[in-house]
Amino acid sequence: MAASKSPTPREAFELLLAGNQRFVAGAPEHPNQDATRRAEITPGQRPFAVLFGCSDSRLAAEIIFDRGLGDLFVVRTAGHVVGAEVLGSIEYGVDVLGCPLVVVLGHDSCGAVSAACAALEDGLSPRGYVRDVVERVTSSVLAARAAGRVEADQIVAEHIRHTVDLLLDRSRVLAERVGAGEAAMVGLSYRLADGSAQLAAARGLDVTANAAS
Ligand SMILES: [Zn+2]
Repeated sequence: MAASKSPTPREAFELLLAGNQRFVAGAPEHPNQDATRRAEITPGQRPFAVLFGCSDSRLAAEIIFDRGLGDLFVVRTAGHVVGAEVLGSIEYGVDVLGCPLVVVLGHDSCGAVSAACAALEDGLSPRGYVRDVVERVTSSVLAARAAGRVEADQIVAEHIRHTVDLLLDRSRVLAERVGAGEAAMVGLSYRLADGSAQLAAARGLDVTANAAS
């Protein structure tokens, strides 16, 4: 990809999917991880996607999408919960760096989602600021239950969709960019066992979500 030309939202999405497919197949190319790339992007970064994902150590962004330096603007929090710093960081990636795609990356067996489910079951909240994380996942769990989606994978998918819509709802910058067709958002659900990222939501991009809904 030429550094001078930004990809379209669809091209950015296809770049990510292709990298994930290489990772799943056990045939990574490790692009943009050498000294040449390091020198090329020293004057300035031009990442093609903002990746906002769960902090889980098994979701290392550049590894699971087989990318390298300067490719992804990465923001991660436990359970991909959203606060002001997250919104500001994502807006920076889109509005200042010109990323045409924002990805929300969740996954199965997410500890934050499990903790939110457990808190609703037994009424006990975790202590400290972990409670803050869990509380921000709870509304997604409640929405999933209200819609009759009670399986773990369904709750994860609901939380991913909720997060995509929450970002669009909170951020005027994102909503404007997506509305103008300059950027798109997708929600991906990562499967720990096989390394694949399944589409859970898409906004501003004509692709079909294959998650159960
Ligand atoms: Zn997680």
